[in-house]
Amino acid sequence: MITLRDIYKVFQTKDGPVRAVDGIDLRINEGEIFGVIGYSGAGKSTLIRMVNMLERPTQGEVTVAGRNLSQLHEKELRKARQEIGMIFQHFNLLWSRTVRENIAFPLEIAGVKKPERDRRVDELIKLVGLAGREESYPSQLSGGQKQRVGIARALANNPKVLLCDEATSALDPKTTDAILDLLVDINEKLGLTIILITHEMHVIRKICHQVAVMEAGKVVEQGPVREVFRKPKEAMTKEFVKQITEPEETADAISHMLAESPEGKVVQLTFVGEETERPLISQLIRQFDIDVNIVQGKITKIQAGSYGTLFIALDGKPEQIEAAIAFIRSKQVEVEVISHVE
Ligand code: ADP
Repeated sequence: MITLRDIYKVFQTKDGPVRAVDGIDLRINEGEIFGVIGYSGAGKSTLIRMVNMLERPTQGEVTVAGRNLSQLHEKELRKARQEIGMIFQHFNLLWSRTVRENIAFPLEIAGVKKPERDRRVDELIKLVGLAGREESYPSQLSGGQKQRVGIARALANNPKVLLCDEATSALDPKTTDAILDLLVDINEKLGLTIILITHEMHVIRKICHQVAVMEAGKVVEQGPVREVFRKPKEAMTKEFVKQITEPEETADAISHMLAESPEGKVVQLTFVGEETERPLISQLIRQFDIDVNIVQGKITKIQAGSYGTLFIALDGKPEQIEAAIAFIRSKQVEVEVISHVE
């Protein structure tokens, strides 16, 4: 659906050239939710803005739905952009217009006549769950509702692609989850291809199929979300995996456990969505005659299982502990035995 071929973006600033994007190749398939994660300054915004040519690459080609956007002139581009919706961290709504008028705006620009426009807006309002708020102004809405308007507006012209620029970064965790659920719903119902950029690991884990990890303008690692985070190869990817644990507290708790039971073992379990931690732990206790204590960790529940890292202490006879570890290894859980804390 989307290919970025050998893309560079160099900004000329008074302090000299800044290489915001430094040679990126990506392929994004139709219907995929593709996440790009990286810290601030990694080049994510610049990259996503090149997908709809809000930013023109210094070098390289961007192809969307078979059309090479890099070769289009401004007028042709305006038309091509109607197939690419975009939502933003701070929503970018028109503050003097109502919800209905905000959503109708791109339809007006595309020259859609009033009756058809009204019909389409009604449909979109229903899709994003804003019924009853049609006549509200953005200032009367919560952050989550504002982003719903942003999403409806982005979808107005029936795009094939939706770009999400830190779309949940200004929202609290509960609202973030609701907006991410809405994006999944849209992806499934409309078959829309979604690219999102974020610095937050849980966003990637919750909804993305594929991920690219960015650092200093380059993609350092990419692939299916589960594979990339189950066995991160690059230091930057490991950093993001750590985001879901609290390193200092965890290190303290592990040192304590190791001192308490020198015969026992502390084990790091990384859940990748196929198991849930509670049934696994109760099974360990029942089956292996050992003590199991949760030391630390952060787990996010999803429909099919859990994501996140959990440190547990196993105490009992050495052979029982070994058998328990072998048993965990037979599950879809990554296991690492920790014998000391750095
Ligand atoms: P991210 O979205 O990952 O935070 P950005 O794409 O915003 O990263 O920025 C990448 C780098 O490019 C940063 O060093 C930033 O300062 C620089 N940059 C981004 N946009 C511009 C611009 N319009 N002019 C000059 N430098 C820019």
